[in-house]
Amino acid sequence: MPSDPSPLISAEGISRRVRELAAEVSKTYAGNEIVAVGILKGAFVFMADLVRHLTVPVSCDFIRVSSYGDAKTSGGIVRFEFDVTQPLTDKHVLLIEDIVDTGLTLSYLCENFRTRKPASLRICALLHKPARTRVEVPLDFVGFTIPDKFVVGYGLDVAGKYRNLPFVGVVSEDEKT
Ligand code: 5GP
Repeated sequence: MPSDPSPLISAEGISRRVRELAAEVSKTYAGNEIVAVGILKGAFVFMADLVRHLTVPVSCDFIRVSSYGDAKTSGGIVRFEFDVTQPLTDKHVLLIEDIVDTGLTLSYLCENFRTRKPASLRICALLHKPARTRVEVPLDFVGFTIPDKFVVGYGLDVAGKYRNLPFVGVVSEDEKT
């Protein structure tokens, strides 16, 4: 029987950091309106908490992408399953991601979103695993830098499970396979 994920970042720690991030984001965009674009499914919990602490006007939109490669890592070839519902031309776009691993997904998305001519494009990621970087993507706002471990909870899953955990935890090796 696989064991429960072992806690890496507590619910309290996440909540504190998300408030800090929201303050940083609000300061950066002071006087402007944001289009927050959540990358589903993983970012839904983080985004829901983050936007509730923003002090600038925000509209929320979502994309869903899948990447070719094995189940746990992206292969860099990204396919849109669905896209935002509005033009992004001249908008201040904030991409919201759960975790940046190799950077391949965000690298592709940034290139794609730049073609839409936003007024600005920034990235806010809850987690970053720098040990696995294959493409450097400038991350404007990062919640936590974590070691090279496969994590779940607070929106992140393994085989569809654990997205509802209030904390971020590490799953045992046998759960990953
Ligand atoms: P990248 O393109 O940066 O390699 O991959 C980013 C995506 O891979 C994330 O949005 C997420 O779906 C998945 N991913 C990477 N590392 C982890 C992890 O530790 N846990 C989970 N649940 N997903 C991960």
